[in-house]
Amino acid sequence: MTTAAVIVAAGRGQRAGAGPPKQWRPLAGRPVLAHALDAFRAAGIGHILLVLHPDDSDRAAALGSGFETVPGGVSRDSSVRNALEALAGSGVTRVLIHDGARPLASPALIARVLAALDSATGAAPALPVTEALWRGRGGQVRRGIDRADLYRAQTPQGFVFEAILKAHRAHPGGAADDVEVARAAGLDVAIVEGEEDNIKLTWPADFARATRLLRQTDRGGGDRMDVRTGSGFDVHRFTKGAGVVLCGVEIAHDRALAGHSDADVAIHALCDAIYGALGEGDIGVHFPPSDPQWKGAASRVFLAHACARAAERGFRLGNLDVTLICERPKIGPHAGAMRAGLAAITGLEEGRINVKATTSEGLGFAGRGEGIAAMAAATLVAA
Ligand code: MG
Repeated sequence: MTTAAVIVAAGRGQRAGAGPPKQWRPLAGRPVLAHALDAFRAAGIGHILLVLHPDDSDRAAALGSGFETVPGGVSRDSSVRNALEALAGSGVTRVLIHDGARPLASPALIARVLAALDSATGAAPALPVTEALWRGRGGQVRRGIDRADLYRAQTPQGFVFEAILKAHRAHPGGAADDVEVARAAGLDVAIVEGEEDNIKLTWPADFARATRLLRQTDRGGGDRMDVRTGSGFDVHRFTKGAGVVLCGVEIAHDRALAGHSDADVAIHALCDAIYGALGEGDIGVHFPPSDPQWKGAASRVFLAHACARAAERGFRLGNLDVTLICERPKIGPHAGAMRAGLAAITGLEEGRINVKATTSEGLGFAGRGEGIAAMAAATLVAA
């Protein structure tokens, strides 16, 4: 058995809103069509034909390689027929025909369709209609419809190649899908269990749903589990004074830390970790030391800003971890208050915040008591 997949992606459908055709819109960072291609590759189908609109040849280059292309026709069924004619004589014995706007077909679904073709001329996934159906007009229900034997059709629809080629050649055109073409030619088509997640992107809201579904699953695409980490490091020197502010907590000490703001070295490192995870530079980019409005500022303002930026970018904090490096003051007695303070600023539960400290064994600037250093790590998770 030699199987080919035909992915129909020549449509110009505009119901999904303004912008490029829906099969070329980004979904979790890649074109919709790239996800559809992934599904067939993951199912082990090596021979893939994309039916494309002539205007989209540049876009196809962005999909990489490992597929052939065929120009689309004026209608869906003429597009499919172009692909089938291109496969004629190639030795293909079975063909799967799929909508390019269905990015979430699973390898298991594709395998079910192929398995059904072992004993049928045609096989297609579908789901039974579970909600009541009405006919209506002018906003008024006219009458209910018996849903007992109604199904919602999906793709990929699979066929014995020579049978569906012959059926398409004989069809007058205007079919909604290839099962309709097959039935018009008298072919039997087995119903295979479909998948609720195998949605056809039609309306703008479908894209948000598909993005959520992609993130919930482990199917293809690097953005499906979008977890980012960042690190931060900062140093402030000691100067004359009577206390320091670390993680937003005031600690009595025989010196103070020098800095433009309150010199909270720990919060500065945490901010840099969050900005780092976002790919947004560091604290100096967002709060330039040259700007007088931040003179003496409480650094909690900076941390609140970093958290707000993460939220605006669609991320929530997964955890924060900060290490203070100094001989004195002793951090341990204040670590609990620091965690609580950071939780209050960030909105993160205390169990996801860690504050720890180390000395540098008397070595270097920290060991000589010339200043305090802080290292931090932050994890952001796509919300
Ligand atoms: Mg600093």
